[in-house]
Amino acid sequence: MVTRAGIVVTGTEVLTGRVSDRNGPWLAEQLRRLGVDVGHVVVVGDRLDDLRAALDFLAGTGVALVITSGGLGPTADDLTAEVVGDWQGRPLSVDPALEQRITAVVERLAARRGWRVDPDATAAGVRKQARVPDGATVLEPVGTAPGLVVPPAEGRSGPTVLVLPGPPSELQGMWDDAVAAEATARALSGRSELRQQTVRLWGTLEAQLAATLREHEDELAGLEITTCLREGELEIVTRFAPDAQPAYDRLGAVLAEEYADTLFSTGPTLDDLVAGAFADRGLTVATAESCTGGLLAARLTERPGSSAWVLGGVTAYANSAKQQLLDVPASVLAEHGAVSPEVATALAEGARARFGADIGVGITGIAGPGGGTADKPVGTVHLCVAGPDGSELRALRLPGSRSAVRERSVTRAMHLLRATLLGGPPA
Ligand code: ATP
Ligand code: MG
Repeated sequence: MVTRAGIVVTGTEVLTGRVSDRNGPWLAEQLRRLGVDVGHVVVVGDRLDDLRAALDFLAGTGVALVITSGGLGPTADDLTAEVVGDWQGRPLSVDPALEQRITAVVERLAARRGWRVDPDATAAGVRKQARVPDGATVLEPVGTAPGLVVPPAEGRSGPTVLVLPGPPSELQGMWDDAVAAEATARALSGRSELRQQTVRLWGTLEAQLAATLREHEDELAGLEITTCLREGELEIVTRFAPDAQPAYDRLGAVLAEEYADTLFSTGPTLDDLVAGAFADRGLTVATAESCTGGLLAARLTERPGSSAWVLGGVTAYANSAKQQLLDVPASVLAEHGAVSPEVATALAEGARARFGADIGVGITGIAGPGGGTADKPVGTVHLCVAGPDGSELRALRLPGSRSAVRERSVTRAMHLLRATLLGGPPA
C-alpha cells in the first residue's frame, strides 16, 4: 500500500492567478521522492470555510498527511494555524518562548531594513504567530512564521496536518525540519519506495504511443504511465514500486526499439542535453537572431555556468545590423530576402566568425501577425547551425501566434543543436 498525502495551497492571490503556485508542485515532488503519493493539490482563497472544506475533502480521500501552505503571517487574513488547530480538536494558546524568539527575529529584521515599527502592532502580530495548537510540534521560523505539525487530537482519527508558510523560500527552508519531525514520521510510517523514470520522444504523436502501450498492456502491469505533449516533445513519466522494475525495464526496451528514430532522452531535458554536450566536448557557441530577438541566447544562458560555452549573441533585426555586425553580404540580402536559407546560413557563419565560436546559430523568420506574403507566409522560419564540419539548415512553417512562432523557433534551434552535437533523432 502506497502512503498518500494531499496538499492545500492557500491564498487569494494564488487562487486568482496573480501569483502562480510554486508550492503545490514543489511539495508534490518532494513527497514523491519520499515515496508518498499525492492525489490532489487544492487551491483555496483566504476564507475559513473554504480551508475547512478542503481539509474535509482531503481527509475523505483517506490520506495520511495533509500539507498546507500559506496564511501564517501576522495579519487577520492569515487563518491557517487557527483553522487547523480547531479542525484537529486542538485549542490554541500562546507559546511564550516562541513569542520571544519571533520578537527577536522581527526586531532584527526591522533594524536591518531600517523600518520604524509600532511596538503595540508588532507585539499583537507576533502574539498571533506564536499561537500553537495544543500538542503540536513547532518548526522554527525561517522568516517570521513558525511551521506546525498537528496530529489529530487523542482519540480522533484522520490525517496529520503539516502547516507551512506561503513564501516559497520559507517553505522550502523548513522542509528538512518538517520531514525530520517525529510527528511527520509517525504519519508517514509504512511508506514504500516509489521510483520515477522519464523518457522523451521528439516527433511522436500521443495516439501512436497510446497504441503501443495498449499492445504491450499485459507486460506493463504495476506501472503508472503518464504522457504529456509539449512543443512537439512527448514526455513519458512512469512511476512504479520497486517490485515493478522488471515491467519498467520491459517498457524501456519497447520504447527504445519502436521509437529509435524519435527517442532522444531517457531522463535529461533538451536543455540539459545541449548544455552537457557543450560542456563535455569543450565547444563554444554564438548566436545571431532576427525574429527570435535574443530568446535563444536567453535560453542558452539560463543555467549557471553557461559562460563556459556561450560566447555571446547578436540580435540583428535591421538588414543594416545583419550586414554591419554579422557580415551578411548585401547581395545575399538583396537576392534572397532577409528570410531565406542563405541569410540564415550567413547569420550562423557571421556569429561563428565574429565571436570566434566553434558553433554558430542563425535564425531568421516571420513571426507575424503582419509581414507575411504568399510565398513566405507568417511562420516561415529558417534555422542554421554552422560548425567546423559544415552546416545544417532547416526551413520551417510554424503555426500559431507571434509568441508561439518565436518560442517554437527557439525549441527547434535547440533540437538542431542537440542533433548536431549528439546525433540521435533528427531535428
Ligand atoms: P507572511 O508571513 O509573508 O504573510 P504567510 O505564511 O502568511 O506568510 P501568505 O500570506 O499566504 O504566507 O503568502 C505570502 C506571500 O508568499 C504571497 O504574497 C506570495 O507572494 C508568496 N506565496 C504564498 N503562497 C505561494 C505559492 N503557493 N506560490 C508562490 N508564492 C506564494
Ligand atoms: Mg500572509
